[in-house]
Amino acid sequence: MKKNCLVWFRKDLRLSDNPAINAAKNYENIYPLFIMDEDIFENKSLGGASLWWLENSLELLNRNIQNNLKILRGDSLKIIPKLCEDLEINAVFWNRCYEADRIKKDSKLKKKLLDNSIEVKSFNSSLLWEPWDIKNKSGNPYKVFTPFFKSGCLTSSNPRTPISKPDNLNFKKANSNFKEYEFKYLFKNNHWSNKFKKYWNVGEIGAKNSLNKFLKLGAKNYSIGRNYPSIENVSRLSPYLHWGEISPFEVWHEANKKMFGENKSVFLSELGWREFSYHLLYNFPNLQDQNLKNNFDSFPWIENNNLLEKWKKGETGYPIIDAGMRELWETGYMHNRVRMITSSFLVKNLLAHWKHGKMWFWNCLLDADAASNSASWQWVAGTGTDATPFFRIFNPITQSKKFDSDANYIKKYVPELSKLPTKIIFSPFEYDSSILKQYDVVLGKNYPYPIIDYVESRKRALNVYSRFINKN
Ligand SMILES: Cc1cc2nc3c(=O)[nH]c(=O)nc-3n(C[C@H](O)[C@H](O)[C@H](O)COP(=O)(O)OP(=O)(O)OC[C@H]3O[C@@H](n4cnc5c(N)ncnc54)[C@H](O)[C@@H]3O)c2cc1C
Repeated sequence: MKKNCLVWFRKDLRLSDNPAINAAKNYENIYPLFIMDEDIFENKSLGGASLWWLENSLELLNRNIQNNLKILRGDSLKIIPKLCEDLEINAVFWNRCYEADRIKKDSKLKKKLLDNSIEVKSFNSSLLWEPWDIKNKSGNPYKVFTPFFKSGCLTSSNPRTPISKPDNLNFKKANSNFKEYEFKYLFKNNHWSNKFKKYWNVGEIGAKNSLNKFLKLGAKNYSIGRNYPSIENVSRLSPYLHWGEISPFEVWHEANKKMFGENKSVFLSELGWREFSYHLLYNFPNLQDQNLKNNFDSFPWIENNNLLEKWKKGETGYPIIDAGMRELWETGYMHNRVRMITSSFLVKNLLAHWKHGKMWFWNCLLDADAASNSASWQWVAGTGTDATPFFRIFNPITQSKKFDSDANYIKKYVPELSKLPTKIIFSPFEYDSSILKQYDVVLGKNYPYPIIDYVESRKRALNVYSRFINKN
């Protein structure tokens, strides 16, 4: 048996189907490590919701490995070589991340360790297909989802089958002198994020339970039900997938076995959208802060902090938008259909730059993800490589009538409107104040007037866009 190895956890906070853990199984001593490396942009700027998830997830992982996880804050390029020296480490294993700054730092670390004759191996634990393996016929990255998924992914190799958790892993705590790097999380005392524990069971077991529940109940009607925010037809796996508490390989193969027909193909293609977002992030590393269609660099977005704040707080006067923004604040999650409606409202009706929306989602989403969040905002704003055309503007009233027809979702998150009949609830501002009063609603008092006229703002967006396109 080989002697000492170090397993560096990042966004792979699980033991099953974890290739880095699997590689460590033949070692006498396995030293598990997590580093909050704030040179890495994502770590430095993690949002409040993500920090809450991460802290809980690390706590559970630590428990699963008999309190042997060493958590440090500092520069991984300094910490890992020092640990290797102090603990006489023979090999270091980790699972890959795909942000440009991590890739750069990982390569430097690999070289440094190899120079010191330490074995180093990195693995794929989080993507079904490596982003560099999927190329179009000209050998370039795909820019559009459908050919990426159908001609690129599905005709390439099948995602590998999951690896089960090895038995008898001998974890040991790295008791090295690391005073300057010691790190204690304290985010759990944050009043806002603490309420998330009502809604989520963080960790590997929570992830498996969510997958099983979805496959048993939600999956049967996924292809249609996934559009309705008050119906439980979606998996809610996104934060678990983001933090690697469940492997996408496991989700893919389980869904393949237990789902059928249209439900299966739509669900697998949603996992494909996640792959596509990473494909874009890897091949276009500026995805997070630059328009992929760079002609949008001179687009006349409007800065209006007052309206932006109302959007964030769920005080726009459009019930479906307010319900979505309040779901996000309350639960750290927002249903995909409502993410599309609220984001379209921000970038099109309010003409606010997509970066403002991306940042708010980044702070509040438990699944906040550099790839999926940025790619989705660029998709909605029309600035991405595969994007909704700018002239496709979601109408919050017709969308809510269609996808929340009994208004259960609105009533849940905007309780001050809950007495309104469904005929009125989607657009209370269209009704006379005396009618609203019968249902205890007084606009401007206990529910806002609309912050913008939907019809006029739609016209304005289309005008601005067509003038912009004609000029560019
Ligand atoms: C403006 C905007 C911002 C978004 N930001 C994020 C984000 O930060 N993180 C994130 O994971 N998703 C993001 N999404 C995509 C999508 O809304 C969520 O992945 C989905 O709602 C998660 O819920 P679920 O797990 O129940 O999804 P399900 O419908 O059960 O789908 C299963 C899995 O497929 C993946 N998936 C589904 N839809 C998408 C999609 N459109 N793009 C990428 N992956 C997808 C997710 O990993 C999801 O967990 C965003 C969408 C929009 C419109």
